[in-house]
Amino acid sequence: MVDTKYIFVTGGVVSSLGKGIIAASLARLLQARGYKVTNQKFDPYINIDPGTLNPYEHGECYVTVDGHEADLDLGHYERFTNTPTTRANNITTGRIYQNVIDKERRGDYLGKTVQIIPHITDEIKRNVKLLGSKNEFDFVITEIGGTVGDIESLPFIESVRQLRWEMGKNCVCIHLTYVPYIAAAKELKTKPTQHSVKQLQEVGIQPDILVLRTEHEISSEVRKKVALFCNVNPSAVIQSIDVPSIYEVPIKMHQQKLDEIVLAKTGMPIEGEPNLAPWEKFLHRMKSATKTVSIGLVGKYVELPDAYKSINESLFQAATYNDYKLDLQYIHSEKLNESNSDKLLGKLDGILIAPGFGQRGIEGKFVALKYAREHDIPTFGVCLGMQCMVIEYARDVLGYADANSTEMDVTTKHNVIDLMESQKSISNMGGTMRLGAYDCILSPDSIPAKAYGTTHIRERHRHRFEFNSDYRQEFEDAGMKCVGENPDTHLVEVVEVPSLRWYVGVQYHPEYNSTVLNPNPLFVDFVRAAIEYKNK
Ligand code: GLN
Repeated sequence: MVDTKYIFVTGGVVSSLGKGIIAASLARLLQARGYKVTNQKFDPYINIDPGTLNPYEHGECYVTVDGHEADLDLGHYERFTNTPTTRANNITTGRIYQNVIDKERRGDYLGKTVQIIPHITDEIKRNVKLLGSKNEFDFVITEIGGTVGDIESLPFIESVRQLRWEMGKNCVCIHLTYVPYIAAAKELKTKPTQHSVKQLQEVGIQPDILVLRTEHEISSEVRKKVALFCNVNPSAVIQSIDVPSIYEVPIKMHQQKLDEIVLAKTGMPIEGEPNLAPWEKFLHRMKSATKTVSIGLVGKYVELPDAYKSINESLFQAATYNDYKLDLQYIHSEKLNESNSDKLLGKLDGILIAPGFGQRGIEGKFVALKYAREHDIPTFGVCLGMQCMVIEYARDVLGYADANSTEMDVTTKHNVIDLMESQKSISNMGGTMRLGAYDCILSPDSIPAKAYGTTHIRERHRHRFEFNSDYRQEFEDAGMKCVGENPDTHLVEVVEVPSLRWYVGVQYHPEYNSTVLNPNPLFVDFVRAAIEYKNK
């Protein structure tokens, strides 16, 4: 049996260079060579997890099957590798400190002064090795959030230094930097990269591979120069040039032999080529599509598309599998009202009502839903979007003008969406929602059952409020059917209005399990319905 190999991906110069995409792309390439790979992300902030963060801070909160609220990079990992991640794949400084402090209180370090080195770094190292310890994976690829030189990421970087020393050849460091192009000088500048590598070297880490993010082709001279200044082989200086789609990055990395360099560094055999045929097939469909389907995403965080990362990607994958290009239009729910609804929604082929929390922007979602229902436009409600579908239907069809969720109005007489009994006693905000994957049984003749091709599905949740089953019969009599139900609690998970073309709301988040090679069937069917409507 071969030892698990550990790859670390650090970043320098600026943030947002796409460390997550590079890490996910490498995982894809190694997987395509038959290896078992997992991606891990360390986030240097003190929050225990990103669950309590406003999406404006770090974008979408992703949810793993085991109910962990995680960084959105885990979504990239899953979309690229088609392998579920868990709680162990995303660790924050907060969790490291919490674990160490809990151990201290238990007396685990009795007699000792608890310090950053060795106690915090040991806990970081334990969390890295944990993923490799069960012999489930040949490669563990760990991305260190933030940039080298940040005070916050120092303990993580120090842990990488120690692990590298301990593991020798079983460990590889990849450093991602930025090479800016100075238009006036018509030159790519490598100085920031040189400084960033020096900073890494100062803390004892010599990178094995450099990935240079750039907007212009990097010449072999520039590569050689970087290699010379940074003690890296010229062949291990790889460019990550801007590409129209992130899904092209694995191919670009393979063309420059990133996978082979990693195998060589870790002493693994390099045999043949990775099987990238299914991936290439997806890219081919993506590039061959000529016709466009327009989907409107109605939400309150639309200024920051990362807030809806998994939905954007699911829609894009679904369009590709329908051989269409996606024209995704972000519609600010706070700016949507009856007087502009025709202008903003009238030309759309499909409407998706986004998840979310709180009152802000909610009225715009009702406006969109009423418009969609009256014009019979294919409409998909996700989590809060589904709850809004129910509320709007109660107001406009059942005639309960004050119908609401108790999240928005605790005093409403018609609480068609309400807090679960088990949620009422909860006071802590972090990690206490209904989280993770739950079973759902679908009515055999419903749109979702046909889309999934089965009546038994499992999807991920992240919410506190639920459809109030006291109203179930009334809704059903009025034409909104409850077509998906949790088999254990009988909570309503899916609603549908069968008299309309495609009007489906799901309490769960289907966007979390849509991957490049395995798109979520409900998204694919929604986009198919939108295309059918467009071409009617
Ligand atoms: N705010 C709603 C709830 O907590 C919906 C959450 C969501 O859309 N993820 O139930």
